[in-house]
Amino acid sequence: MSRIPRYWESAIRSESALPGEKLYAVWKVKNEMTGLPLISILLILFGHPALVQGADKNKISWEKVAEVFQGGLVQVKVSGPDLAEVEGRMGSERIYFYSYGPHAFRAIVGADVEAKPGVAKIFLRLTGRDGVQHKRELSLRIKAKAFRQESFNVPPGFDQMTSETLEEIRREQTAFARAFAASAPERLWDAPFVRPVPQEASASSFGSRRIINGTPRAPHSGTDLSAPAGTEVVAANHGRVVLVGNFFFAGGSVVLDHGGGLFTMYFHLSEFKVQDGDLVNKGDVLALSGATGRVTGAHLHWGARLAKARIDPMELLTQMSAEEPPIGARNITPNEMEK
Ligand SMILES: [Zn+2]
Repeated sequence: MSRIPRYWESAIRSESALPGEKLYAVWKVKNEMTGLPLISILLILFGHPALVQGADKNKISWEKVAEVFQGGLVQVKVSGPDLAEVEGRMGSERIYFYSYGPHAFRAIVGADVEAKPGVAKIFLRLTGRDGVQHKRELSLRIKAKAFRQESFNVPPGFDQMTSETLEEIRREQTAFARAFAASAPERLWDAPFVRPVPQEASASSFGSRRIINGTPRAPHSGTDLSAPAGTEVVAANHGRVVLVGNFFFAGGSVVLDHGGGLFTMYFHLSEFKVQDGDLVNKGDVLALSGATGRVTGAHLHWGARLAKARIDPMELLTQMSAEEPPIGARNITPNEMEK
């Protein structure tokens, strides 16, 4: 089990969970590279070409409109020759921007699988090295996605909750809430993300609306990968293990915190290879897949969460370009972090 350096723990503690289910974003970046006046801001959205360019008398330019599907991700790049500090807010949630090249910063923004289609405002506050602040707005257009609908039955035991079962479910909810309560402010991941198992996604895909034993349920908040029991499940990226446990619905579970409000989840596992608190690298084996929890067969349920939004983890594979240099050009290893 790896130890987290003191500076990191104090940073994590300062990141208290904020109330509210609304998708929102706050981002804040300290740029150590100073020297030139603030000239421009540029926001670029990858994979979403419908952009509206904004510019004003302060020569700040940015994309006024970003588009994202329910359950999707969008990357936002900010650049400016003397960008000292940048903050953003959507509702009251945080999104973190990271240094990306000499004058560039980047963040990823996600829309919850059940986010209401429409336009959400992201408020930007840009501070130049001269201390002058500029306020701008970005409209995030959330577009509806046509998700599958499926009906199936599970054994009655899963529906007829005894007080013992309800207690188990409460324990599960509490454990996950605790795991998600704080995220490292430091970005631990770098592009690209990797598949946790080699297998492809099954037909039971992300976002599908499920009718179980005739009753509509919450949408499927992950992607099911049809891994046979005993398949090695690897970390999709570098991160810290923030939950290892066995639960009623999720079965054997591992949750990774990748920093900046991004988590990935691995459910229905049969055997753990990591412990709570471990720092792992991309590709490290976390566990073996299985058929634990509420399942009808062996598979890996892979989930992702960004700033409280439940997003399709496959978006991490498709939206995080492999050829882009790593943000901050830094690859943290557990050994480095122990220094
Ligand atoms: Zn699943």
